[in-house]
Amino acid sequence: MQERSQAAEYPYLTGLNTEQLAAVETMDGPLLVLAGAGTGKTRVLTTRLAHILNTGRAYPSQILAVTFTNKAAQEMKERVSGLLGGMPVDGWALGTFHALCAKMLRRHADRVGLSSNFTILDPDDQVRLLKQIMEVEGVDTKKWVPKVMMGVIERWKDRALTPDKIGMDEVGEMADRKLGKLYEIYQRRLREINACDFGDLLLHMITILRDPTDRSVLEEYHHRFRYIMVDEYQDTNVAQYLWLRLLAQGSNNICCVGDDDQSIYGWRGAEVGNILKFEQDFNGAKVIRLEQNYRSTNNILKAAHGVIANNEGRLGKELWSDSGDGEKIIVRGLWDGEAEARWVGEEVEQLQRKGFSLDSVAVLVRTGFQTREFEERFIKLGVPYKVIGGARFYERLEIRDALAYLRVTMQKADDLALERIINTPKRAIGPATIAALYEHGRKYQFCLHDAILDLTQTDELRPKVKGTLMKLMDDFGRWRSLIDNMHHAELAALILEESGYMRMWQEDKTPEAPGRIENLKELISGMQEYESLQNFLEHVALVLENQDSGLGEFVSIMTLHGAKGLEFDAVFLPGWEEGLFPSQRSMDENGLKGLEEERRLAYVGITRAKKRAFLTFVGSRRIYGNWVNSIPSRFIDELPKVQVEVQTEMGLAGAGRSSHWDSSGLMPRVQKRQVQMRVAKAPSEYSAGKVINADGVVIERGMRVFHNKFGYGKIIHIDGHKLDIAFDKAGKKRVLDSFIKPADQI
Ligand code: ATP
Ligand code: MG
Repeated sequence: MQERSQAAEYPYLTGLNTEQLAAVETMDGPLLVLAGAGTGKTRVLTTRLAHILNTGRAYPSQILAVTFTNKAAQEMKERVSGLLGGMPVDGWALGTFHALCAKMLRRHADRVGLSSNFTILDPDDQVRLLKQIMEVEGVDTKKWVPKVMMGVIERWKDRALTPDKIGMDEVGEMADRKLGKLYEIYQRRLREINACDFGDLLLHMITILRDPTDRSVLEEYHHRFRYIMVDEYQDTNVAQYLWLRLLAQGSNNICCVGDDDQSIYGWRGAEVGNILKFEQDFNGAKVIRLEQNYRSTNNILKAAHGVIANNEGRLGKELWSDSGDGEKIIVRGLWDGEAEARWVGEEVEQLQRKGFSLDSVAVLVRTGFQTREFEERFIKLGVPYKVIGGARFYERLEIRDALAYLRVTMQKADDLALERIINTPKRAIGPATIAALYEHGRKYQFCLHDAILDLTQTDELRPKVKGTLMKLMDDFGRWRSLIDNMHHAELAALILEESGYMRMWQEDKTPEAPGRIENLKELISGMQEYESLQNFLEHVALVLENQDSGLGEFVSIMTLHGAKGLEFDAVFLPGWEEGLFPSQRSMDENGLKGLEEERRLAYVGITRAKKRAFLTFVGSRRIYGNWVNSIPSRFIDELPKVQVEVQTEMGLAGAGRSSHWDSSGLMPRVQKRQVQMRVAKAPSEYSAGKVINADGVVIERGMRVFHNKFGYGKIIHIDGHKLDIAFDKAGKKRVLDSFIKPADQI
């Protein structure tokens, strides 16, 4: 009752239920709030922060608060400030693990051999550095792909394993031990260049805080941080956990909130075990469970529970809500992806008519490529949307690259597009060559494409570069000739294969690569809805022009991973089909563990909804030009029947359809035709045997000339501004008139 009287004194406490209030007011000692989605964990954390400040138990600078994203940190700041009537709450340590550690490490960098202005390497640089080291060490980088090796090192860092621990903690295979050595050199090199990677931010701080010979840093933080608070604790990795535990040893006032059912970052090293053994790790820990959900209707909660109940090894908790049953969850089966997007579009408009704000509507996809169809639909309907946490489909790097190939095929004078992909995949065409090509184009008023055609008829370029460029031009010529003879989606697939662009991503071992390949395949699938290549490219140009309106309401489109911690009145969950969700890749890589993480993702998805949840699956999807039949996700079967209304346009077994170019293989067979290249005419003035070059010098057959690269020689033939010259030393070469000077002028 004393608690209730407190509540009267502090208005922000009034709305809390008994358990929440207990959590807010338990300020001393370790506290874990372990509770399901929407039970107010984040709200408890925020209120507790405000309460600590308001009761003068600590200054803002004495509180360490960890959130999962920078955005969440910002929101928490605003909410606390709001609870305290707008009081500014600056100077506290609030942010993500990385942001907080980076700040700390700058202060103590010298203790790990860095200076405080150290650079934080981005992932590309990381891999580049490792690759250099591997080459020096004579490791075969074809067999041991640096990106993959980097991944192993990162996972070691997630587990706080410094190089000296590898081989000791790891019952190391030979490969591990070798990599352990590389890891050691990599760390040394980082120090030498005064840099660290993301994993080091934590790792170095742990090293510093653990230093047995000098405890001053640890003591300083013990003295400073009176309270430590952590949101989304279920997704912390070992290194993060160790860092927290070291810091918490001082005040022992650590409060973590989380939900074991929402651990969805195992693939990035998160250990759900951290939350399960909190009581053991922090002596005298109090655990508070919250069971009332304030977010969703009972139908939504029961549906989510029905799914997650299929996971083993959970703590198990059931939620209730006093906001009534609400409407049933709609499960809708549709013919295909286009129908799915159309239906979602209609429902969104329907919700709008019922008074839902677009800001409170979200489409949560499992995988990035799924956004395309919804984006297209929303654009068509004029429904404003934003892709949160990622680029819009046509703005993604790999899509822009693929579009560049198509644009050059369609329109050879598209210099920007050609420049974009001329060296992608890598063709050893560097900036100097590109500059030379442009320079040549400027001189003769050629587009980049024609400048290449022209210049490759000479020996001005290094033979390797020349060969590569000629091959590329040949390819474009052939592709161009196919425009009228081949279905444009098929052609696009062919271009992506033949150019090596698709292979580039297939050989890329970064975690993003599979998503990029999916996006490319989705691009091909999507093209089939258009009449021609031209038609499609026009459509894309219009879509890209359709910028965010900036102000006003919009529907959020994002991945399930990105939606953690958020809530919306209405949530659309598309693509609940086996292989897509649960994701085949995740199951292939991690078996049952992978499947269970997928199921937690389903739980996260459903529990984002306050009032309405719409799940959809389709009978067939067009994947890279082929119709592929799909089976409804097992998670749909796991939904309790009572809370769900199934609507389907077809039998649940799914119905296949075939398209006019359905083929069994990935790549449609194509009649390859060699194409005669048309060579552009040079604009310079000439008559047989005589030419005036760009510098105004008259050049004649038989003339003795000097060329910077090939030296002295005699002109034996003139073809436009291209000259065949018999060089004294280099032999017969074809060069450009602008590169030579009459010998008597040297
Ligand atoms: P998640 O697991 O998804 O992160 P959570 O447990 O952090 O969820 P919150 O986001 O804190 O839950 O709360 C969910 C919703 O319930 C929010 O809109 C919050 O304002 C509201 N809420 C929480 N507690 C109460 C309460 N005591 N009274 C009214 N509304 C509440
Ligand atoms: Mg939360």
